[in-house]
Amino acid sequence: MDKSDPEFDLFVIGAGSGGVRAARWAAQRGARVAVAEQGPLGGTCVNLGCIPKKLFAYAAHHPGDVAGARGFGWTGPAPVFDWATLRNNKNVEIARLNGVYERLLVGAGVTIMRGRARVAGPNEVQVDGRLVHARHILVATGGRAVRPDIPGAGHSITSDEAFHLERLPRSVLVVGGGYIAVEFASIFNGLGVATTLVHRGERLLRHFDAEVGPFLADQMRVHGVDIRLGRQVAAIAIAGSGGGAEGNGGRLVVTLDNGDAIPCDDVLYATGRLPNTLDLGLEEAGVELAAHGAVRVDALFQTRVPSIHAIGDCIDRMQLTPVALSEGMFVADRLFGRGERSVSYDNIPTAVFSHPNVATVGLTEGEARERHGDVRIYRSTFTPLREQLARTGGRVLMKLVVDAVTDRVLGVHMVGPEAGEIVQGFAVALTCGATKAQFDATLGIHPTAAEEFVTMRDPVPPPADT
Ligand code: FAD
Ligand code: NDP
Repeated sequence: MDKSDPEFDLFVIGAGSGGVRAARWAAQRGARVAVAEQGPLGGTCVNLGCIPKKLFAYAAHHPGDVAGARGFGWTGPAPVFDWATLRNNKNVEIARLNGVYERLLVGAGVTIMRGRARVAGPNEVQVDGRLVHARHILVATGGRAVRPDIPGAGHSITSDEAFHLERLPRSVLVVGGGYIAVEFASIFNGLGVATTLVHRGERLLRHFDAEVGPFLADQMRVHGVDIRLGRQVAAIAIAGSGGGAEGNGGRLVVTLDNGDAIPCDDVLYATGRLPNTLDLGLEEAGVELAAHGAVRVDALFQTRVPSIHAIGDCIDRMQLTPVALSEGMFVADRLFGRGERSVSYDNIPTAVFSHPNVATVGLTEGEARERHGDVRIYRSTFTPLREQLARTGGRVLMKLVVDAVTDRVLGVHMVGPEAGEIVQGFAVALTCGATKAQFDATLGIHPTAAEEFVTMRDPVPPPADT
């Protein structure tokens, strides 16, 4: 087949969140589309990310719920947890979702090619030896977990392996202070695993509002996580091989930079993810890669080669599924539809499914002061009603950041139960440009924690550290 008559209008590399959405949208707009996938359909989110993580987070909440139930009059022995049941049920749900993704693609008329794809030119892709010609190529290859190169790093796992552990460890040490670290520390801790979290910085979730990390750390400590801030891991060794902590229960011994030796059964590294662009043939085809391998794209997600676009985690803008979906729909619509969509990186809501949850939309107090100067801060920390009887130590932080000149609400931040469910609705308000006066004019739903967001009346003085 010669290049003037390509087999496909669009060839998508990677059937993850962004790739599947772009493929379906393009096909629904009349394009002949193929997608190559080297692993299970659905990518990181479905197989090794959002979905299995959230299922594990649900499981990890039960012990707290059971403990809290005593205050509501329930007695009796606590239920016993079985890891294999959770892991296997999770696998069944993921297999179901893999099937849903396959049906969605096939139903839209997309050709699925199983295997590893490599760009062979501006209009050619090689899939396990087969050369395919396409008018456009979309790179949507996602990212992969990275571990710093420290002695014994090979003994550690990442979130990928955590989803498939043969046995639940008795103790785990999690390294990192970002999304995955706090989510997995909360999951293991909730499932009854003795959990230590080691973070090099002084604040968890450092890209969130400055009050969020310390509040979350306090709450995670209340629930039993041993959090060590300002510490680095120096080495990991098999217990009994000179680690110095033999016989105290852990399969491994982790030595920190201050000399502390912590025994544990597993070490989970959650220190960031890098774009999956290794040996993809991109640079040979003329595509420019930025530092750490991210595909360089312009505002239209076009690379330096006009026929090659890239979206999602491999361009390393915001590693979130809804962002990859939005970018995928934009590209499909622009190439094959009416070109009516836009992608905005403002007011992207996001939640961290730690225990308790964190959720946010808009600017942090620090960002708002930098960009808008004069801001008003409304903050409320309180013990929610359920906790008055449950008495498991849960507290809530809610914070609004408001432009003092225009009265627009610039940021909404929350740490507490169901923060993600609550902040999703406020994200609509921020997208609409809601003012504090409009928040004040909104009636609360009583009794909820969420009503606090529309009943905070008095601004507070700014904390010294933002
Ligand atoms: P991916 O979904 O990673 O898909 C890329 C696909 O490309 C993969 O299937 C891969 O196998 C395939 N591929 C790669 N190279 C090739 C090749 N050469 N040939 C063929 N196929 C190839 N985001 C949220 O919004 N909410 C969450 O709660 C959340 N939780 C997360 C939890 C964890 C543990 C992790 C790791 C991530 C989480 N994320 C979450 C982030 C989210 O999963 C990603 O942002 C999203 O999956 C990115 O979509 P994508 O299409 O860019 O890439
Ligand atoms: P993050 O970027 O969120 O966090 C990485 C953490 O590792 C940071 O605390 C960072 O410290 C630390 N770190 C980086 N390098 C080192 C090092 N060499 N030694 C010690 N610590 C180090 O990455 P994650 O891996 O947690 O997650 C990747 C992305 O996936 C997230 O950014 C998010 O976009 C997405 N995700 C989304 C989720 C959700 O929506 N709920 C859930 C999980 C993942 P420092 O703060 O000092 O830089």
